[in-house]
Amino acid sequence: MKVLVINCGSSSLKYQVLEMETEELLCKGLVERIGIEGSVIKHEKIGMDKWVLETPMKDHKDAIGHVLNALVDPEHGVAKSMEEIGAVGHRVVHAGEKYASSVLITDDVIKALEECIDLAPLHNPANLQGIAACRALMPNTPMVGVFDTAFHQTMPAESYLYALPYEYYTKYGVRRYGFHGTSHRYVSMRAAEMLGKKPEELKIITCHLGNGASLAAVKNGKVFDTSMGFTPVAGLVMGTRCGDIDPAILGFIAAKEGKDFAGMDKVINKESGVYGLSGVSSDFRDVENAANEGNEKAEVALKVYAHRVKSYIGAYMAEMNGCDAIVFTAGLGENGITMRKAICEGLENLGIELCDERNNVRGKDTVISKDSSKVKILPIPTNE
Ligand code: AMP
Repeated sequence: MKVLVINCGSSSLKYQVLEMETEELLCKGLVERIGIEGSVIKHEKIGMDKWVLETPMKDHKDAIGHVLNALVDPEHGVAKSMEEIGAVGHRVVHAGEKYASSVLITDDVIKALEECIDLAPLHNPANLQGIAACRALMPNTPMVGVFDTAFHQTMPAESYLYALPYEYYTKYGVRRYGFHGTSHRYVSMRAAEMLGKKPEELKIITCHLGNGASLAAVKNGKVFDTSMGFTPVAGLVMGTRCGDIDPAILGFIAAKEGKDFAGMDKVINKESGVYGLSGVSSDFRDVENAANEGNEKAEVALKVYAHRVKSYIGAYMAEMNGCDAIVFTAGLGENGITMRKAICEGLENLGIELCDERNNVRGKDTVISKDSSKVKILPIPTNE
């Protein structure tokens, strides 16, 4: 069966078609500037050159209509007719406490996801638009929702509750949810496979280090804790997000700089992280280059970044009473040789020993710890 997978943003969408029996990727693509001037679809049938088509698309339904046309195009398509697409998978950011795994999309599921709009105002509306467009264009094709929050739903109360008045949790759902769940799930399972063990036998710390970044403590195949929180701004230092800070700083800076809450929200989400600290860029390659050229702020930004990851690794080893494997994934985790070294340095007493030679690798799933390392270290390309 061929499955279409869609990840809908507010003005863009990514898609792939997979042949499920073999898990072979048949095509992938990106639609950009939906609803604004210059709409474009970039479609790539595997093994062929990219096909770029600029054409107006007023909304997500238009965009998905173009995607479906591309899928059955005689030259660039991967199906003779739409009937060959047996199911559609939709990535949805937030399912609140409602779903702990993927579900078949029904009217009730859509209602539940609409109720989560408050929790993910930037993402869920776009995800829902994608679902609505597909239901209109392919009314008889089953659709499945895959949620970023789902894998983290196994966290115990001591991990997900904030020490705020309890009624904020019951009345408004204020708790730790965690994100990047599909990535943490995939790489933790792949690590178990690579180590020849069952996920239930392992304690794994998965480090998803991309532009957004989070760690998860995965104990016996279930998330025990994760670093992102009520929103994705919590936890690690990121490209432009600050991660954990003293919450009192918000009011202090707001008063000093004459900012309102929306202004402060912008500061912590868009103006902080390695970008805010270094003043150079949110892209780690730029920050690393600047640091290598002697830029002290860039150097310190990378040190703060590595320090935060280290402190979470230590915390999660304590929470799980040990750890069998640490996985690095996403852009920086898969490719950041220097950053992986900076993170692992000085953790030898915890049984974490990186092999410099094996660490000299990018975008490949392999083991990069020394044979003597009690904790195995594995970069694994994610497959969200
Ligand atoms: P992602 O969000 O997973 O696409 O990751 C994006 C981040 O990965 C960007 O900040 C990139 O700078 C970083 N990245 C990608 N390739 C490399 C590399 N070769 N070395 C260091 N960082 C990289």
